[in-house]
Amino acid sequence: MSNARIRWSMLLSHHAPADYDRTVVCLGVRMCSRCMGVLAGVLIAGFVWLHWQTHPCQSSVVLVGGYFMPVPAAIDFLSHEIGLRRSNNVIRFVTGILLGIAAALPVLFVIEGSFGMATMQAAWLSVIEILSGVVLKRTGCLEPYLRRYELGVRTLPDSHEKGPVANRAL
Ligand SMILES: [Zn+2]
Repeated sequence: MSNARIRWSMLLSHHAPADYDRTVVCLGVRMCSRCMGVLAGVLIAGFVWLHWQTHPCQSSVVLVGGYFMPVPAAIDFLSHEIGLRRSNNVIRFVTGILLGIAAALPVLFVIEGSFGMATMQAAWLSVIEILSGVVLKRTGCLEPYLRRYELGVRTLPDSHEKGPVANRAL
């Protein structure tokens, strides 16, 4: 493995070739489907916040919605990873949008001076992340998940990125 090189393309896709079915190629760049949704969600939240004159982040609807919105992405990711069902890139993108809106809320709360709400929202996102890790660990899916990343980040100089089938030989 001394000739191994870093697969820098994983900086944007953050998925190993074994999981390329979770990515899309946009303008020649491979990107994670869910993260594209997250980016769209952040932009949507910012746009709505800028153009909504009634300070939406102060409303209880936004607060409750902020707690709900990351949940579909977590359920979709975990149920796919555990093997209960198969997800697809449309579901990943849509749940990513909701996750992105939820991820933007702490920043918007801080801008509005609502530090308590920002902390609560950020803490809730952290709880979901930690719980997801615990579920993966308890179901024996964490090590294989991390192992795919570990194998995928290194590539031999003469290897070609042929997608999921080629990478399963790693
Ligand atoms: Zn992603």
